[in-house]
Amino acid sequence: MYIFQTVCKLQEYLQKQSSKSKTIGYVPTMGALHEGHLQLIANSLGDCDLSVCSIFVNPTQFDDSKDLSVYPRPIEADIEKLTAIGCDVLFLPSAEEIYPKDLKSPTFDLNGLDKTMEGANRKGHFAGVVQVVHRLLDIVKPNRLYMGQKDFQQFAIIKQMLQQMESLIQLVRVPIVREADGLAMSSRNVRLSAIGRQTASNISKALFEAQKNAKIMPLKEVRLRAMAFLESKQLEIDYFKIIDGDTLQEIESLELAQTVAACTTVRLDGLRLLDNIILK
Ligand code: AMP
Repeated sequence: MYIFQTVCKLQEYLQKQSSKSKTIGYVPTMGALHEGHLQLIANSLGDCDLSVCSIFVNPTQFDDSKDLSVYPRPIEADIEKLTAIGCDVLFLPSAEEIYPKDLKSPTFDLNGLDKTMEGANRKGHFAGVVQVVHRLLDIVKPNRLYMGQKDFQQFAIIKQMLQQMESLIQLVRVPIVREADGLAMSSRNVRLSAIGRQTASNISKALFEAQKNAKIMPLKEVRLRAMAFLESKQLEIDYFKIIDGDTLQEIESLELAQTVAACTTVRLDGLRLLDNIILK
């Protein structure tokens, strides 16, 4: 695997590859790689001639400086995992490479997608996500971009950004990879206490139950039951919403949207844990 730390060296290599008509697949990450990230890379490896992964803990998307300072950075282990899976290129830039002083980041009309759920809870988070993904795409110039369903809202926002840019990049959504007990894999899970780790498995239990219930009862009832279950397990709910997958607005019936998802974030051990399930 090639590892590049500068934009210049990465682009020099990638330009040679794309002039050989190679399709480039790209997986942006913040590292502390787990099976979820590796699944994105496996998808890219299956579809594309050349797969690029980046690891960059983007400071502009953290609204909480403590969360940024304790974000795990096991870079040696990450390199081993990427090498083992057969990733072609790792881009490992510094903040100066991503945000040079003269960088101008465009703004996008996100149609209100950034105002709800995570956007309502984490000020400036999506502005930071859009800024970094735009910059990284401008550097890597991939044919296909792989992102996880785990960050359902982030996916919808990047889709909107690409539409506004009239970009030809194909955005691919990869399903959530879960631990054996159902907990959605996340780089932050390592910060859970032993008891917290056990309690956390109830998040996906609530979502799987919601998926069953959505077939037989009104969505309002599905939501209330899921929230009551989470509260009964001492989980502090930031939000639990059943939404239209395109507008991210809450809806009352499965018939009212093409894609419907239940999205939740709960607080546990000082962490915010995100999860979701597609109901339709
Ligand atoms: P992160 O490193 O948390 O910024 O995540 C990088 C990418 O991996 C994003 O597109 C995430 O949605 C995706 N991802 C994170 N966790 C999972 C998971 N458990 N299953 C599938 N994709 C995931």
